[in-house]
This record gives sequence, C-alpha cells and structure tokens, in this order.
Amino acid sequence: MKIELQFLGAARHVTGTKHLLRLGDTRVLLDCGMVQGPRRIADEQNRNLPIAGRDVDALVLSHAHIDHCGALPRLVKDGFDGVIWCTDATADMLRMMLMDSAHIQGQDARHMQKRGHPVEPLYDAEDVERTLRLVKSVPYHQQFQVTPELRVEFLDAGHILGAAIVVMDVEAGPRRRRIVFTGDHGRKNLPILRDPERIPECDALITESTYGDRLHEQRGDMMAELARIVAEELHDGGRVIVPAFSVGRTQSVVLFLGQLMRDGTLPKLPIWVDSPMSREATRIMGKHPDLFDDETQALLKAGHNPLFFDGVTYVSDVEASKALNQERRGVIISASGMCESGRVLHHLKQSVGRREDCVLLVGYQAHGTLGRRLLDGERVVNIYGEPYEVRCKVRSMYGFSAHADWRELLDAADHLVTRCKQVFVVHGEDQPAEAYATRLRNHGFRQVVVPSKRDIVEIP
Ligand SMILES: [Zn+2]
Repeated sequence: MKIELQFLGAARHVTGTKHLLRLGDTRVLLDCGMVQGPRRIADEQNRNLPIAGRDVDALVLSHAHIDHCGALPRLVKDGFDGVIWCTDATADMLRMMLMDSAHIQGQDARHMQKRGHPVEPLYDAEDVERTLRLVKSVPYHQQFQVTPELRVEFLDAGHILGAAIVVMDVEAGPRRRRIVFTGDHGRKNLPILRDPERIPECDALITESTYGDRLHEQRGDMMAELARIVAEELHDGGRVIVPAFSVGRTQSVVLFLGQLMRDGTLPKLPIWVDSPMSREATRIMGKHPDLFDDETQALLKAGHNPLFFDGVTYVSDVEASKALNQERRGVIISASGMCESGRVLHHLKQSVGRREDCVLLVGYQAHGTLGRRLLDGERVVNIYGEPYEVRCKVRSMYGFSAHADWRELLDAADHLVTRCKQVFVVHGEDQPAEAYATRLRNHGFRQVVVPSKRDIVEIP
C-alpha cells in the first residue's frame, strides 16, 4: 500500500490547514481550516475546497482554532459524512467556534446584501449541527482506529485547551510507519495549560513553523513588562485596551493580571472581559480542570480561581458593553485580536484619541489589519469608515504567543534526528518556514521539505 501526504492548505501560509493522508484508496484529512486574509481570495478558497467532501473517508482534527476547523461545515455541506475525531475538550470548543463562525457569516452576508452584493454564507447553524453530529471525541493518550490501517493517538500540544499532537501509526504490510503532525505546537510555561508533550519517535514529521524565524520573550520578563505597562497607565490616569482572541490569549492576560494583583505588584484594579465568546471559552476551560498545569491546579486547590476572581467582570450584553465607555480606569480585554471586528472597535474609538490611554497588542498582527496599522505607528486610522487621530500609547508584547518560537520547535524535534527520515514544514509564511527548514537541515535532519499547496509526497 502506498502511503502519501498531500498538502492542501497552510502550505507556505498560516491559515486554512488541510493535510491529506492517502493510504492506498483511503483518504484521511488532517484538519479542515478556514483560509483567512483578504476577503476575495479567502472567500474563493473557502467556497471551493481543494477536495470534495465525498472523497474524504475520515477526518482527524488537531484543535479548535478556526484556521484548523473553520471549513469543516463546508466539507460536510459538500458531502463529507465520515467521523471527525478530536479530543474531548476540542469537541466542546468546536461547537462554540463553528456557531460563532456561522453567525459572523450570516451577518456578513446580510451586510453585503445591503450593499447590493448578494453572497451566500459558506454555511449556517444547521450545517454546523450536522457537522457536530459527526464528531467522536477521545481522551488524550488513548489509541483509536480511524481506518483498518490507521491507528491514531492524541498527545497534549500545550497550545490551547484540547489541542493535540497527532500520532499516526500506519500498518503497511509487514512494516509500520509512524507519522506525527504537531498541529499548532505550544510552549512550555504558558499559563493554565500543560507543557507540550514530548514528540514520539517517528518516520515522518509534519511540523508547524509560524514563528520559525523568531524568538519570544520568556514568562518572567512578560510579567514584569505587563506590570510596567499597566502601572504606567494607572499613573497617567488612563485605561488599557487589550485586543485579544477569545480563546487562550484572553485567559492568559486575565491570569497574569490576577497574579500581579495577588502578589501586590499591581494595586487592585477593574478588569473587564468584553466578549461573549471569551466568557463562553472561559466557561469551557473551567469544565476541564484536569487539563490544567500543576501550578493552576494548586491555585484552584488553594481557593484561588485564576480566571474568576474579585475585580474581573465578564461582560455579555451590549448595554453593559456600551456602559464601559464611562470607565476611565482599568483594563478592557476585548476581541478581535487584530482589531478587525467585534466590540474592541467601540473601545478603540473611545481611546485612540486620548493621550492617557494605551492599546496593548498581545498577538500577531497581520498586514492590512487595524492592529497592524496601530503597531506601525500610523497617526490616523479608520474605524468604521471614520478617521481617528491616534494620540494614545501603543505597546506590544509577543511573549503571549501560544506558538513555539524556532528554538522551542527545534528543542521539541531534537531527539527525532536519528530516526525521522522526512520533515515537512507547514503552517508558516515563506520566510519563517524556510528559515526553520534551514535550521532543521543544519541540525542533521536529512530530508526537509517546505511543501507548496497541492504537492504530493510519498512516505517510503
Ligand atoms: Zn492554533
């Protein structure tokens, strides 16, 4: 039986992850992510998936970020009716992420309709329900049979709650091949989550490379930096707006602020998490304390909830969100992380013009986004089509990233060098992917490939 891999998304890109494992006539898709980016290109690619749903026999999902799961309902709409395998926590996250995605698309479609450009949403809530009915969730560390020739096990990737390193054992005649997909590889010492598990020995590795050319700040430095920025704001009498993704980043910022207030580094100050989805994500995290790291478990045992404590308010309804305009002191954490949409825009409208306020960017800011324009120091930005002069301070911190940097990736792969015959570097723009591939080669890995979209390789 021929074993092949085909890269159908996130090849020389960071979004739209789709890798196809071809085992003879059987097709197993790893992730089915949504392509994000300029609307016209993304929409075309998400609408016309690179593989027909009926041609996929089973799907293995690494985690619930939308660039890994967001095109699943489209695949189902397109005829996929196999099993979707994922971890228990990912299954919980999946409902929230896909329902939110369907909701956004519905809104978008109505908006376009008004402007005279009728578009069909990629999928709706009903398609999401059909998708969720196909999900079979399994705990970490439990092997399961995906097809007669393929057994899979999930290990903790330490990236977001439920995220997995996917270990695939293929029975090909008398010999067994092991292929490992890192999914999105997390980092040691991220708040709340356990550290990424050790990648097991394998014949082939599919590795992410988001930050393949970059080093992050370490946790101790980040705490000090966050304390410094917030203390400066308190001194200036302003407020801090933190645009953050609902899953992962928001909870990290809340936990860090809680810790800084508990140990007296920062005075007690109000924190608002203004995003219904952040609230839901935080609730789901609370359902899985068994997946927390030792530090967080100890905190819980000592009676400190790191995500719900005195001073944090989770804002759901719109009126309460609007009322935050009156608040001149404290921290507002709100989505979206790149300031492209969501409630954070309303807070930015209030704050960008005020010298005493600060926008703190804690995540990746893609080209062309409002977050990037603020980061680049543009003096005038458009929010909802209106120009606003930027007088506030803009700060950024990269240490909150839930993706390993190049050194962390290389450390995680280091012990594989003798046995692993092929490494495929995916989920990175050209430059970081190539930079990381070069490092792997210099490190002694024999065949290191940065595949392009649709490339097919054989696992001998
Ligand atoms: Zn991710």
